[in-house]
Amino acid sequence: MRLFRNIRYISLAKIWNLCHLHSFYRKAKHGNFSKKVPPPSFASYEPTNVCNLACEMCPSGKGQLKRPRGTADMDLYRKFITENRKTLTNIMLHFQGEPLMCQQLGEMISLARQNRIHTMFSTNGQLLAQSIDLIRNARPDHIIVSLDGLSDETYTKYRVGGKVQNVFDGLEKLSQLPIKERPYIELQFLVFSHNEHEIPKLQKLKKKYRIDKITLKSAQIYEESQIDFLPENQKYSRYNISNGKIKLKKESKNHCKRLIFGTVVCFDGRIVPCCFDKDADHEFGNISNQSLAEIRNSEKFRNFVKQVFTQRNGIEICNNCTE
Ligand code: SF4
Repeated sequence: MRLFRNIRYISLAKIWNLCHLHSFYRKAKHGNFSKKVPPPSFASYEPTNVCNLACEMCPSGKGQLKRPRGTADMDLYRKFITENRKTLTNIMLHFQGEPLMCQQLGEMISLARQNRIHTMFSTNGQLLAQSIDLIRNARPDHIIVSLDGLSDETYTKYRVGGKVQNVFDGLEKLSQLPIKERPYIELQFLVFSHNEHEIPKLQKLKKKYRIDKITLKSAQIYEESQIDFLPENQKYSRYNISNGKIKLKKESKNHCKRLIFGTVVCFDGRIVPCCFDKDADHEFGNISNQSLAEIRNSEKFRNFVKQVFTQRNGIEICNNCTE
């Protein structure tokens, strides 16, 4: 059913572009950067970087984001969709902030869908129940709902300022939608030391709320003072700890698919490499005065690609990335 629904987003032009992306990626891995960088196949577009929670370890929620706060401009978004609709397969309407706090989210989803682009967004679920009409009308294809605790006690250890019941109410409303109107629902559970004991109970929720998929995600931490948040079960941690220091388990290699196949657009049109660049420290340009194709072939972008594919550990954000 899902495959059938998603077939409408595929076209020969998109398949052809994917072939170009693969070819560029393969060549870059061998040190050949001479080719033009093809357009991305997926994009993350930030509806807003404002949030209604103050989650631990989230620069947006904690008020530590150095970028100004704001909401996407529809004319700029329209320009982006129009210019990239032939090659863009998937748009993720999230980056920093809570997408459901953006008044134009429904319009953004509808516009992408009209242009045959698969749409998804990730939400903390606090406003889900009251946004059910928006979801019903705009019909996003996929929603990721974060639920990192099954009681207020465990939930609010990370989702500071939230109420777990709001997420349950939202899931309930989603489960009541007729099948034709219901998006693919993914429940994302960030595993911490304070909630890992709740994992076995998630299967019951899956049935109760007709959830399509449950994802157990390892948390990203930024400093040693956050080690206590890491779960005991090593399976759910992306770090090794030695002498009180954190180190990624996965050895980072000098390449990055995400950088080549995707792009991230901040609410104000700035293009950054990926969702790890929360403060737009590596801004390559702005779609308000350039096309994405120009930005991805600018000296700045090409130099960044070269550095990731030759000496990735020289870039701070890449050192705490599992890509
Ligand atoms: S942080 Fe670096 S390696 Fe990770 S996705 Fe971004 S560009 Fe790629």
